[in-house]
Amino acid sequence: MEYASYWHASAPPFVHGAAGPVDGQVDVAVVGAGFTGLSAALALAREGVRVAVLEAGHVGSGASGRNGGHLNNGIAHGFAAAKAHLGDARAHALYRAYDRSIDMIEALVADEGIDCDFRRAGKLKLASKESHVAGLRANHELIRREVDPETRWLDKRDLAAEIGGTGFHGAILYEKSAMMHMGRYVTGLAQAAQRHGATIWENARVTARTKLAEGWELTTPRGRIRASRVIAATGAYGRTPPFAWFRRRIIPVGSFIIATRPLTEAEVAATLPGDRTCVTSLNIGNYFRLSPDRRLIFGGRARFSASSDQSSDAKSGRILRRSMAAIFPHLADVRIDYCWGGLVDMTKDRFPRAGQADGMIFGMGYSGHGAQMSTLLGHALADLALGRKGTNPLEGLDWPAIPAHSGKPWFLPLVGMWFGLKDRLS
Ligand SMILES: Cc1cc2nc3c(=O)[nH]c(=O)nc-3n(C[C@H](O)[C@H](O)[C@H](O)COP(=O)(O)OP(=O)(O)OC[C@H]3O[C@@H](n4cnc5c(N)ncnc54)[C@H](O)[C@@H]3O)c2cc1C
Repeated sequence: MEYASYWHASAPPFVHGAAGPVDGQVDVAVVGAGFTGLSAALALAREGVRVAVLEAGHVGSGASGRNGGHLNNGIAHGFAAAKAHLGDARAHALYRAYDRSIDMIEALVADEGIDCDFRRAGKLKLASKESHVAGLRANHELIRREVDPETRWLDKRDLAAEIGGTGFHGAILYEKSAMMHMGRYVTGLAQAAQRHGATIWENARVTARTKLAEGWELTTPRGRIRASRVIAATGAYGRTPPFAWFRRRIIPVGSFIIATRPLTEAEVAATLPGDRTCVTSLNIGNYFRLSPDRRLIFGGRARFSASSDQSSDAKSGRILRRSMAAIFPHLADVRIDYCWGGLVDMTKDRFPRAGQADGMIFGMGYSGHGAQMSTLLGHALADLALGRKGTNPLEGLDWPAIPAHSGKPWFLPLVGMWFGLKDRLS
């Protein structure tokens, strides 16, 4: 078994980032080469703006190259909850922005010739308990009536054609949801941005930011660059002082994944005959799909941890294997080829944020539901850098700091216990 992301291991590497020292003057410096930063850089480069991307690791080394591979529409923690929290108008607009973000990826992949197995697979939100059915059905009815007539309710007996696993009691089917190869997409975005004129420096962590008479100077171990505007697209990984404002608002939470060996045709038929993305309804639940080469890619929160390294990933991998075997008993002894983890950029209310603060333009806080929205927000951030308004679906959404939080989420184990208890009692 490799302790590596399947998406990293099965994608071509990005060739060739900028060589030599970080230097010069640009209109916009983008910090972070995940979907958000690269999408912003691509949009700016397409318009002839001088743009540089500074990435601490390699292209896609953050959450964008480590996720579950789902491009799900809908609002992850429920449309009714979004209405209650955001009000009707913003909840409707946000739901539609998730739809548009998937449309945008579909168009971009075609325009830039990115070979990433994009497919409108549809998503199942599976009821893990009989007692969850009523709530899911009510949520579905609301969604169907107000924002998405292309959703359907599937009863337990309809699920046989979709999933071979045991223990599900019904599901919402979101027809507009999609899936793709995340590694090939993130590399493809970087290649496209570079082709249109963006300069991309890897291994260039921004460690300091200095205000100049006009614009900013950013310091990295590879040199310094001056920029009129700075876009922070650092997700859960922005640990250095220039991003302290975000550290007080983002909770980094580990999420973990295992990928099996490629399944046989008979195993695929017994596991996910519907070939869709699947998410379970528990708070500490699971998400899974098949890869283009027919592996089961099975993820979950596993443990409430703020770190993802080999020992943390290995512990979580063992928990995930047990959860996978509970749902798919025929896969209990299947070989696991990859095990990895990544950090999710949670916000307190689990809604993303984008706008301008602390001298930077920013987009982050996707809370585990950002593989699609990050492309749309990247474009919105590019618009903000160009002084255009009206494309940011999160404009004006308040984002107070989390009390007693400065970056290390000491409270995570308590949150984990609370969600575990809620799942047991639900
Ligand atoms: C395990 C896991 C599973 C997930 N599954 C799904 C899913 O199936 N569907 C879904 O919609 N979402 C999923 N997500 C969330 C999704 O992957 C993210 O929302 C999305 O990738 C965010 O992209 P981003 O570009 O904003 O952040 P990232 O991809 O995290 O990029 C941020 C980048 O900034 C760089 N950086 C940070 N600080 C600095 C600095 N000081 N200087 C330079 N560079 C810096 C980092 O190295 C990193 O590459 C998952 C996340 C994880 C971790």
